Amino acid sequence: MPENRKPQHRLDPHNPLVLDTRELGRRPGSMRMVRLPAPAPVGLGEQLIGVTAGAEIELDLRLESVMEGVLVSGTADVPLTGECGRCLDTIDDRLTVEVQELFAYADSTTDLTGEDDETARMQGDFLDLEPVLRDAVVLALPLTPLCQQDCAGLCVDCGERLDDLPEDHAHSTPDPRWAALQGLTDDPNALNTEEH
Ligand SMILES: [Zn+2]
Ligand SMILES: [Zn+2]
Repeated sequence: MPENRKPQHRLDPHNPLVLDTRELGRRPGSMRMVRLPAPAPVGLGEQLIGVTAGAEIELDLRLESVMEGVLVSGTADVPLTGECGRCLDTIDDRLTVEVQELFAYADSTTDLTGEDDETARMQGDFLDLEPVLRDAVVLALPLTPLCQQDCAGLCVDCGERLDDLPEDHAHSTPDPRWAALQGLTDDPNALNTEEH
């Protein structure tokens, strides 16, 4: 099946997200912990929120030699920068994502039978964490990033962040006689004094 054996691009052993498993060896059951900082690759995330290229990712991984390859599991802690979907404020946050992937040895059953683009494969003694990390981060990102869960967004009249404004922020003061009545009634129609 030549389709299935399409050569991968060669891994760069100097790329910090490319791990060398020679120390681990290939005896099933052997294990090694990998705790290291690595700079984020370009384009990790989505348009509104993601990881700035070069920002430091903290990897805390366990490499385990199994029959079919190397099982990588653990967490990656990434710094997030983005923009709040409601108030456009800058978001500075951190995200910890779970990582788990089997990197198949060449010619293992997993290698030979796995889908071409869904199977992670070893390249010699090296494995590339980047695609795995990319999937984990993108999956964990919120669809609408928010600066805080209850962000009130922007005032439709002046465009200021409502959370930065006093609670009674409004653009035309309601008639004081109505204001007095507002406290006295539950009828929503009675509250229909234009606040803005
Ligand atoms: Zn916000
Ligand atoms: Zn306003």
